Amino acid sequence: MSSKIQLGFAIEIDENDPLMYDINDFPSKIGGLPMWLNPAEPLTSEQTRCEICNDIMAFLLQIYNTEDFPEEAFNRSTYVFICRNENCNKTSPENWNKIMKVFRIQLPKKNPYYPFSEDEPGLLIEGTFKSRYCKICNLKGSKCCSKCKNAYYCSKEHQLYDWNNLDHKLNCSTNCTKVVNIDYNTKSNELQFNCFEIVNEVEPESKISKMDLKVEEMLNNMNIMTEKEESFSKQQLDEEEETKVDVDKAFLKFQKRVEREPEQAFRYYRTSYNNTEFTKPLYVSDLNKPKEIPDCKHCHSKRTLEYQVMPQLLNFLQDDNVDFGTLLIYTCESNCESAHFEKDECGVWARELIFRQDFSNDGMKLGNSSNSAITSQN
Ligand SMILES: [Zn+2]
Ligand SMILES: [Zn+2]
Ligand SMILES: [Zn+2]
Ligand SMILES: [Zn+2]
Repeated sequence: MSSKIQLGFAIEIDENDPLMYDINDFPSKIGGLPMWLNPAEPLTSEQTRCEICNDIMAFLLQIYNTEDFPEEAFNRSTYVFICRNENCNKTSPENWNKIMKVFRIQLPKKNPYYPFSEDEPGLLIEGTFKSRYCKICNLKGSKCCSKCKNAYYCSKEHQLYDWNNLDHKLNCSTNCTKVVNIDYNTKSNELQFNCFEIVNEVEPESKISKMDLKVEEMLNNMNIMTEKEESFSKQQLDEEEETKVDVDKAFLKFQKRVEREPEQAFRYYRTSYNNTEFTKPLYVSDLNKPKEIPDCKHCHSKRTLEYQVMPQLLNFLQDDNVDFGTLLIYTCESNCESAHFEKDECGVWARELIFRQDFSNDGMKLGNSSNSAITSQN
């Protein structure tokens, strides 16, 4: 069957073609500062706190994805935040959804912020929103430096960080009238991840290589093994069987598929979600697959797999504290609109679901980079 999955790649941002607020070419990016699709509605530090350590999470990535239905989803972005504290990242799996959060926001084709026609330039053009964002992380700037009244912060923490670690102690009061342009293209402080643009490409057909044949052979051998095993343990529950698998089949399948394009950092599923081949992610292990995906808490529709963050992203983040096998992002199938939300803490934002899966010990033994796994078996 031919593959139509879109892949995403992290690339250095081209100085000559920087990321800009252009709704016809709205960026998908990793790290640095988030660029808000709706400039009037940045997330707040309260919304993005880790539910274990209470620190403000770091902006990990944003993905722009237009959808046909409903009208409001014409412009649509999801934003992922993650806690960078070592202990939080080592917490047990039942807490993983407390250290990562994903939010969805959308705007109809015609909206007040972006130019729709020459007669309607859109508010963003006038730069109305610039000063209301936190200088450090670009979350909503709800606090203001009481001395210069020119620097905005999302929280006391980031105000202190600017004062103690960056230059505000020196620049406070001196640059009151200077409007500083926000740099979305480079990492501007240590609280941010390295900054990359995400570009997409269709996944290529599989290439028959020596490596494929080797994996094929291993998979075949394993099928024989598990058939034998099954005859012993017909009545055992799925879960018990899962833990008895000697070699992680999902992991080998993962390796084989990734081999087509080893640098892939994202796999997108929603664009082809009528095709049943694309409703399941590429698991990195047979263990700890999501058992059930809770329905959208805003409208109670089903949530479907929108995209998968691949472990290759870790190479770009270069943060020893953050680790995962893969991240699966599930979003409301109906793209429900905030006007219909039941009242909650999210405002216009819909909180969606992020699921982390780690490599099993077998996978780890084989090595989690796409090339080392097979070669280490030789
Ligand atoms: Zn934390
Ligand atoms: Zn901040
Ligand atoms: Zn100040
Ligand atoms: Zn919904």
